[in-house]
Amino acid sequence: MRIANLQGRAALVVAEGFIDIGEASDGQFSSDTSDVIANLDAFRIWAAQFDHLAPNAEQLAALATDERLSTVVARPRQIFAIGLNYRHHAEEMNLILPDAPMVFTKFQSALCGTHATIPVVSDSTDWEVEMVAVVGRGGRDIAIEDALDAVAGYCVGQDVSDRELQMAGAQPQFSLGKSWSNFAPVGPWITTSDEIGDPNELTIQCALNGVLMQDWSTNDMVFSIKEVVSYLSSVVELLPGDLIFTGSPHGVGQGQKPPRFLKAGDELVSTIQGLGSIVNPVGAY
Ligand code: ZN
Repeated sequence: MRIANLQGRAALVVAEGFIDIGEASDGQFSSDTSDVIANLDAFRIWAAQFDHLAPNAEQLAALATDERLSTVVARPRQIFAIGLNYRHHAEEMNLILPDAPMVFTKFQSALCGTHATIPVVSDSTDWEVEMVAVVGRGGRDIAIEDALDAVAGYCVGQDVSDRELQMAGAQPQFSLGKSWSNFAPVGPWITTSDEIGDPNELTIQCALNGVLMQDWSTNDMVFSIKEVVSYLSSVVELLPGDLIFTGSPHGVGQGQKPPRFLKAGDELVSTIQGLGSIVNPVGAY
């Protein structure tokens, strides 16, 4: 299944378009995507009546261009992001591989959807395509072998970064430099886990103005998605609708020789196998 946020209302993505979940279920399910995710088992049973309307790849690509699509979970209670979680990306940043997941947040007000414009806030505004896990049932102290069951699904994300602010200070604190307005595009919708198989065997790509800058596999993660989920839950309670940005593969602007950062007029297309693409124009701040 694919669950979208269409102008603030949860919608099921089907071959012909979008079904408004609140209306079609007569209020049995809320119009907030995070409530639908919190009740995913019951929702799945209800939504089975639309299984025959499952969209094909071509239909999905056309639907992803709908301008009404917005942030997949508008107000997650927690957003986690994992730094340096791809081996080749740590290398291009000249940083050593972490021996425990390196965790920061992207503040909620940075969230946006596909089509939203990313502002160039500095001369070092950079891209990072990332797979974003959407927490389903969540919980505390989740064992690694149960961790993928705590995830409802996945979407494509961008961990846009102001490198200068990210690295400011003697002991850099990443969160603020990654939380300017529209620095956290996610979308185009949530694809439930059952649709994609192993989340650590997917092609992940980012194109800048039509040129592939990042083109790798989620199997390069230092800490796999189930390890990240289990690790986070050993400290905090994971809640339905929480978002986890799971790290970027290599090919970011800072890793180019010479470095190449975002400019007004650019366009980023971020794609993950089975999850679709998000398209974000880049504009002046
Ligand atoms: Zn990142």
